Amino acid sequence: MVRPKPKERRFGKGSRRCIRCGTHVAVIQARGIFLCRRCFREMAPKLGFKKYN
Ligand SMILES: [Zn+2]
Repeated sequence: MVRPKPKERRFGKGSRRCIRCGTHVAVIQARGIFLCRRCFREMAPKLGFKKYN
């Protein structure tokens, strides 16, 4: 089965995906990284971010 090409969206769901787990829920875009909040919390220390909250 051939799926139609996903629409390009500049905002909203689908415009930003977590590069780690692929979700588009609660994705944080900061300093060129795209991570959902869960992955962000795990990756932040490795990326040089201080612990948020
Ligand atoms: Zn994620």
